[in-house]
Amino acid sequence: MIRTENLTKRFDGFTAVGGITLTVRPGQILALLGPNGAGKTTTVRMLAAILMPTEGWAEVAGYDTRRNPVAVRQQVGLLTEQPGLYLRMYGGEYLEFFGRLYGLDAGTCRRQAREWLDRFAMPEAWDRRIGEYSKGMRQKLALVRALLHNPPILLMDEPTSAMDPHSAKLVRDAILSLKDERHTILVCTHNLAEAELLADEIAIIRRGQIVALGTPADLKQQLLGPPLMELRVASSVDGARPLVDRWASVVEEGPNWIRYRADSPETVNPMIVRSLAEAGIPVVMLSEVPRSLEAVYLRVVES
Ligand code: ATP
Repeated sequence: MIRTENLTKRFDGFTAVGGITLTVRPGQILALLGPNGAGKTTTVRMLAAILMPTEGWAEVAGYDTRRNPVAVRQQVGLLTEQPGLYLRMYGGEYLEFFGRLYGLDAGTCRRQAREWLDRFAMPEAWDRRIGEYSKGMRQKLALVRALLHNPPILLMDEPTSAMDPHSAKLVRDAILSLKDERHTILVCTHNLAEAELLADEIAIIRRGQIVALGTPADLKQQLLGPPLMELRVASSVDGARPLVDRWASVVEEGPNWIRYRADSPETVNPMIVRSLAEAGIPVVMLSEVPRSLEAVYLRVVES
């Protein structure tokens, strides 16, 4: 579990993180979004006990980051934006070196490292020098390093930014399976589609403060208004419009479709469908018009 209260970091009077309060539970993924310089990396560094807060506190896996930084670091798998990789080392040698630092025995370390390399489709990386790796391979190796000791808390800054679509999918699948194993996961990303795929909750940070927090569905409802529904009928829309109007507000229409907003679709939609059936108007389709997290994000950061 990760808990923070009023977590604050000032650099020479400049407030990089200005009082963040949040909770991430085991089995939950929180995505931290925000413009460049918003304070995401600074927050992650405080949670990893690399940077001490100026004010407020953070508790990670039950340890206070200020009082027990060493214990916190043991419980955390950290993927930073610029992981320091030793370019002259071979991949296997590098992972064995970190495995020893984490206190893993050689056999366990080797087995786990190879399993992760296989899973990320780069088994050959074991016997290659890191200096010869591509950008995406380096990012995957850094991720394997972060996961090697099976830490309960995972903090990942842009985990797939350098990866091709297939590798990014392998990594996302791995993150979701770690969530299923009840790891507590915080991901910083600029990839909004990825945030939506992964996150149970989204926190949008702006100038060091959380300006929106909630599930993707909650944020869409709060910031973009009630869900937009699209109804398609087999005939002309003329007969359907007055029936829809009775229950919801029509926003747009075409020859055989209507879009309307419904505060509570679970109540309104069945009533509309029933009225249409009673009037003998066949419904071809009724579905929610997808709304992107990008629209939410832009609404928040541009306001
Ligand atoms: P990005 O999306 O570009 O990675 P970010 O949200 O991770 O941005 P941070 O790296 O946390 O942003 O930076 C937040 C602010 O704090 C920035 O204005 C940055 O210049 C400042 N900052 C970060 N580290 C330091 C430091 N060591 N000394 C002074 N200022 C710093």
